[in-house]
Amino acid sequence: MSATLPVRVRIAPSPTGFFHVGNARTAIFNWLFARAHGGAFVWRVEDTDRSRFVAEALDDQRAALDWLGITPDEGPFTGGAFGPYMQSERLPLYQGHVDALLAAGKAYRCFCTPERLDEVRRARELGKLKGRYDRHCRNLSADEVAARQAEGGRHTVRLAMPLSGTRTLDDVLRGEIAFDLAEMDDPIILKSDGFPTYHLAVVVDDVAMAITHVLRADEWIPSAPIHLMLYDAFGWTPPVYCHVPLVLAPDGKGKLSKRHGGAEVRDYRAAGYLPEALFNYLALLGWAYSGDEEIFTPEQAAARFALGDIKVSPAAWNPDKLLWMNGHYIRSLAPDDLAARLVPFLADAGIEATAAEVLALVPLIRERITTLLEVVPLVDFFWATRITPEVVDLVPNKLAPAEVAANLRRTAEALATVVHWTAEALEEELRALSEALGVKAGPLFQPVRVAVTGKKIAPPLFETLAIVGKDKVIERLTAAATLLEGGAG
Ligand code: GLU
Repeated sequence: MSATLPVRVRIAPSPTGFFHVGNARTAIFNWLFARAHGGAFVWRVEDTDRSRFVAEALDDQRAALDWLGITPDEGPFTGGAFGPYMQSERLPLYQGHVDALLAAGKAYRCFCTPERLDEVRRARELGKLKGRYDRHCRNLSADEVAARQAEGGRHTVRLAMPLSGTRTLDDVLRGEIAFDLAEMDDPIILKSDGFPTYHLAVVVDDVAMAITHVLRADEWIPSAPIHLMLYDAFGWTPPVYCHVPLVLAPDGKGKLSKRHGGAEVRDYRAAGYLPEALFNYLALLGWAYSGDEEIFTPEQAAARFALGDIKVSPAAWNPDKLLWMNGHYIRSLAPDDLAARLVPFLADAGIEATAAEVLALVPLIRERITTLLEVVPLVDFFWATRITPEVVDLVPNKLAPAEVAANLRRTAEALATVVHWTAEALEEELRALSEALGVKAGPLFQPVRVAVTGKKIAPPLFETLAIVGKDKVIERLTAAATLLEGGAG
């Protein structure tokens, strides 16, 4: 690659499922690299495998990229000078290139039936022969090929690989990796349905879209020699390759998957992670920003990003670190921003809270949540029309229910006299009551907390009472007393 070419990178996730965090991490590396070099970040849709196509995948991938703030410069929804960006809309391009390879004798039509291919594969396995295909159709004469075509025989097209020798991949992170070509099959490049295989399409498009650097997961390394042979067959210069390590499960065994508590970007979004936190966490997964700083903005990361700093060893997912980072980002949000982000989580839980109402609660909860979702059980009682506490929670150890009921009624009476309904005034009133009744703060306040919130653990009591409001507090204290007295509550 000439050093003067503008940097162009791409992500090419197949629309076969929802956007995996490993894909997101690869996308982030690509995005950072493009930003670091003032280049373009391209999104291409590799949808040539029709049997695995999932219609919702595309919208999910788009939403994930937008949410993470790594919006492509070019892509299926953005357009661009190198479109279309959906491979299924580029079929004539691939067919033209396959025709060129056929004409040059570098590819051949294969008429073998799936049944024959199966038999051959099994026989070769048994005989411990290299490769799965016996290259039967590579040696068909021109007349035979013409005759089969005239019969209308369904066929694929295979690349005629060299039968011996090595081909070396020069990878930015791993250096040179040599592949023994004698071990390799003649790969199918055009399927019988007229669609290209991934191998052909990825090469044709990386060239057609002027991609300079391919940053992709290292699970694609075994495919690299096929791609290199296609570059050779076309007489093209390959891009710079940088295969990045996979994101592993927390125990370091295998790829991160659903059963590890979330593997798709949408899982983390739904669980109340901030995009800032997930971006920061993913960027650090396999890359070091600096010796000791771990918190940074995308722009700061882009200013320092260099391919050579990506770590070759795979990174294991660390849920605790992500959670810690999320808590950090939550605490650093401006209160109105945090409130606005909490509203949809409350709405999903059936709570129609306004941003202003939530803003009033922010000081009570911002230090107590590490995900946005955690806010729901912490504050749902503010909007409840009725609290139904558990009797066991209402009655502290060593107290009789009747005693607690009496205390709750006295508390309600005392609070009815409070004119300035502020946390300070309430604290003063309740502490005075504790003294007057000779009941310690703990056993007096805990039933009040449970009566008003329905929970033993809730935000700070006086602030909570202040926000819930006088009428509701008195009503809930009275209802709890009635419940303990054996009434209807
Ligand atoms: N379509 C491939 C995928 O699903 C792209 C691999 C590549 O980047 O070459 O990840």
